[in-house]
Amino acid sequence: MSSSFDYGIVEEAAKQSYIKALCDLPPDVRAALRKARDRETVPTARAIFEAMFKAIDIADAKKTLLCQDTGLPIYKVRVGSRFPWNCAAIKSCLYEGARRATQEFPFRSSSTHTLTRINPQTSVGPGLPVIYWDFVEDSDALDILMVPKGSGSENMSKMQMFYPQHGIKAVKKFILDTVVESAANPCPPGVIGVGLGGTSDLVMRLAKDAICRPVGQRHPDPQFAEMEEELEEAINATGRGPMGLGGDVSCLAVHVEHAYTHITQNPVAVNTQCWPARRARAVVLPDGSTTYGY
Ligand code: SF4
Repeated sequence: MSSSFDYGIVEEAAKQSYIKALCDLPPDVRAALRKARDRETVPTARAIFEAMFKAIDIADAKKTLLCQDTGLPIYKVRVGSRFPWNCAAIKSCLYEGARRATQEFPFRSSSTHTLTRINPQTSVGPGLPVIYWDFVEDSDALDILMVPKGSGSENMSKMQMFYPQHGIKAVKKFILDTVVESAANPCPPGVIGVGLGGTSDLVMRLAKDAICRPVGQRHPDPQFAEMEEELEEAINATGRGPMGLGGDVSCLAVHVEHAYTHITQNPVAVNTQCWPARRARAVVLPDGSTTYGY
């Protein structure tokens, strides 16, 4: 750890990225929504898209929240091999940054105690923010991706442990059924994140990773890219439409992430992101400079 490094910079990056994620929709999501609106033929569905663009315009003009559900704070952190880091200090900064964002912006905390249901209005507590760590070779950056996760979409998450003999057909049916059963709850059309493989916990994480990818960015492996396209077509053919009220566009994209799994199992998970597929990025360098993006 570099004793001269000011960890207040990381705290500020955690705070500002949470606020930015809630207020400023990434350009790829805006473009995907425009494309979806342009190809939508059902008049009520088009009207819903117009209402979404109005919400985006208001958030841009007033620098305010896109949705009242501020979600649970999730930070995906990639620490470069040359970053003068101290993981314990960075973890405290993320906690404090999320708390300060909530109380200083201020916005509604969506986090609560599971038994007492008391909400301390801080967005943080045991286990929150959720932090995913990764470590990157040949980098001097601390890359913080902030993803607020609203409950309408998160409540629709599902995982199933299939056996290999069930085959890929059963896996695709499970994904499709999960999306259809979720109906209007996840505020469609959003990104459908699919996890394949790993263990029961890793597969859920893979599905979450999948929704964090820029909208429509295809999996680099053609086998999974093809599966994404096929599922997208099948989901859009359901006619669920924006906000579940019927239409041509039922999802903006399907993203698949995978890991190797046990020879006798085939875990599958679905994690949906809603139409405001919110995320923001802060990249901190050892000299203290911070760049914000998506
Ligand atoms: S699911 Fe998403 S868009 Fe719907 S209320 Fe929750 S955060 Fe907002």
